[in-house]
Amino acid sequence: MPAYAELAHEALESTRDALTREYESFKAKGLALNMARGKPSRAQLDLSMPMLTCIVDVDDCTAEDGTDCRNYGVLDGIPEAKRLMAVMLDDDAEHVVVFGNSSLNIMYDTMARCWMFGTLGHMPWCKLDEVKWLCPCPGYDRHFGVTEAFGIKMIPVAMNEDGPDMDEVERLVAEDASIKGIWCVPKYSNPSGATYSDEVVRRLAGMPCAADDFRIFWDNAYGIHHLSDDATQQDQLLDIRRACDGAGNPDRCFKFASTSKVTFPGAGISAMAASSANIADMKAHMSPQIIGHDKLNQLRHVKFLHDGKGLAEHMAKHAAILRPKFELVDRKLSEGLSDIGGCTWSKPRGGYFVSFNAPAGCAKRIVELAKDAGVTMTGAGATWPYKQDPADSNIRIAPSLPPVEELDAALDVFVCCVKLAYAEKLLQD
Ligand code: PMP
Repeated sequence: MPAYAELAHEALESTRDALTREYESFKAKGLALNMARGKPSRAQLDLSMPMLTCIVDVDDCTAEDGTDCRNYGVLDGIPEAKRLMAVMLDDDAEHVVVFGNSSLNIMYDTMARCWMFGTLGHMPWCKLDEVKWLCPCPGYDRHFGVTEAFGIKMIPVAMNEDGPDMDEVERLVAEDASIKGIWCVPKYSNPSGATYSDEVVRRLAGMPCAADDFRIFWDNAYGIHHLSDDATQQDQLLDIRRACDGAGNPDRCFKFASTSKVTFPGAGISAMAASSANIADMKAHMSPQIIGHDKLNQLRHVKFLHDGKGLAEHMAKHAAILRPKFELVDRKLSEGLSDIGGCTWSKPRGGYFVSFNAPAGCAKRIVELAKDAGVTMTGAGATWPYKQDPADSNIRIAPSLPPVEELDAALDVFVCCVKLAYAEKLLQD
């Protein structure tokens, strides 16, 4: 089969008609499948059940420093939880604060603190005429939701295979003091799966910024979420805080992570790492807000996961469940779409997503077709600020939740929808 773009008009019409028949037969099946959100599957959630059933008993609610975890207190986390989260954040325990069940919540609160109080003595951002933010695209829709909620103007920058387009980032931050920060998912990025190169990390840490209070929101949500337990098949990431320190910008970054996709989304623990000055500033603002987060959950996590080795062993079990799903996505897309041309997709070594680029102008139609045939995808445009993908091309595929057989069926529908939307588009043009 030649690429669709090379087909003569009649051949394209008959291809479209055959695809429409295939599509209608999928529709008649009344499917209800979901590839929309990056949720762990039931089998993955089951991996962490011992944490709820046999980890912390009544005689054992005391942290290593003698804190009774059942009671109030400890704003920044029990020491053993700080050490555990330091592994996830690739930092030292003294730079870590442990929070509640959601890192997105910490990102929102961190933004809110900068907004209301400023950071390290700088003017609160709410007092400025305009605040802008760099958004590597495709990116994570909930990040964009946070900046949008504050009325911060989002500027898309291209996300390449080694991180954001740094020539563009450096140019923008050097000339515009109203650009106060950048969203980064530096490892196994959501959705492309890309990991920032050492050079990109160093350039982010060292670039001259017109804004003295420029902040990198470094969301290392997938830092330990490899798809293989073979170290040669895992991406490595340079640490941003030490890079910032070395470049003379020690306060430039806030790092975030959580165990949402290690243990239980919504019932894990989250944490942040930053410079000593940033941590002191943040704790001063936190103390009127909260007495302390859930220390029993911190204790449960430490007793279940122990340390870096325990984390790696646990993540290898997740990988064994996830890897066949990612392999299936790549195989189905290759078999179904390689010949027709116009489509590309990522082949991540970790994380939760595959980033699919449809022929320009087709993404919305594909997602609509899939929905009508009972397959829910992340909304087209969601990977861009304000949900506006200028090329109407990018679709995030989230293969983790459905069991393999359901994923297989959903991908058949998706492939058919891509082909049909592309054929229709070429016939319109
Ligand atoms: N950051 C990224 C990049 C994510 O993909 C997700 C979950 N989809 C989150 C943060 C949410 O994390 P949490 O559950 O800790 O709020």
